[in-house]
Amino acid sequence: MGSLNSNPAAGRAEKIRIASWAHRQNTAFVSEDPPRKTRQLVLVGGGHSHVAVLRAFGMSPLPEARIVLISNHWDTPYSGMLPALIAGHYSRDEIHVDLHRLCRYAGADFCRDRMIGLDLKARTVQLANRPPVHFDILSINTGSTPKLDDVPGAAEHALPVKPIDNLLAGLEALEKRIAAHGTTPFRIVTVGGGAGGVELTLSLHHRFLQLIQQGKLKATPPEFEIITATPGLLASHNAGVRRRLNKALARRGVKVRLNARVRAVTRGEAHCENGGGGGGG
Ligand SMILES: Cc1cc2nc3c(=O)[nH]c(=O)nc-3n(C[C@H](O)[C@H](O)[C@H](O)COP(=O)(O)OP(=O)(O)OC[C@H]3O[C@@H](n4cnc5c(N)ncnc54)[C@H](O)[C@@H]3O)c2cc1C
Repeated sequence: MGSLNSNPAAGRAEKIRIASWAHRQNTAFVSEDPPRKTRQLVLVGGGHSHVAVLRAFGMSPLPEARIVLISNHWDTPYSGMLPALIAGHYSRDEIHVDLHRLCRYAGADFCRDRMIGLDLKARTVQLANRPPVHFDILSINTGSTPKLDDVPGAAEHALPVKPIDNLLAGLEALEKRIAAHGTTPFRIVTVGGGAGGVELTLSLHHRFLQLIQQGKLKATPPEFEIITATPGLLASHNAGVRRRLNKALARRGVKVRLNARVRAVTRGEAHCENGGGGGGG
């Protein structure tokens, strides 16, 4: 059995630290006897998950690991603050994490590129613009993007939440459309009744009302509706949270359509498989 350094007690402590690190990372690298050589941990995707991993490495460095972050963006939004950005409480910079700086803090290499494939035999990540990167341990967290192709018309007529930069550009375009709509209220429909959908609706409501009240947007206040396939909003939250948020939506006049799955979108209309429900469930 080998040891990591000449002091057996320190070597044992080191092994336990590596094993518990590997356990926390949910990888198969839980070895009684880790090899001496440096292992290359490659993180693909610079979002929520890997930001937390890099922060942890910054606070508790692991000398045996060389870390490489592959991200197709220089920075990443902290999505917990996204509704506040939409509502106008924070600027874009305030809700974004600078990945290059975070990598410096974590002692990691930053590679700005997009993963386009994997060679599991050669243990390499293939990149769009650079030679392949070798990995001993690979962690992929490239997030999710709404599947617009599944709903006919969604790609043309709906605005997906991610990627965030497209959302921000889309919101500016939306302001112009609201202003051009005249005296009939513009209707904004959110598809999805989970925490994200409810937060987004409330923050959009706040944003447009503020702009109108401050005279920055000359328009009639828009109307809001949430459509969800579930029998109630915030299905994974407790009764108290659901009650308070349903009240908050009702106070703002937000309509809620339950048990309704959006099957198609045309200009100005979301078509549901089953239009049942309604009211603040
Ligand atoms: C409005 C809203 C509010 C939310 N609020 C919260 C909250 O308060 N708390 C919470 O825990 N969660 C919240 N979430 C959910 C949270 O955003 C996701 O669970 C989380 O972002 C998933 O983390 P991730 O690292 O897997 O992916 P992401 O954070 O989406 O990051 C993935 C990254 O990988 C990059 N990428 C994609 N493909 C490639 C590729 N081929 N090569 C290289 N890079 C690539 C993407 O550009 C992106 O930067 C919210 C979501 C939304 C929409």
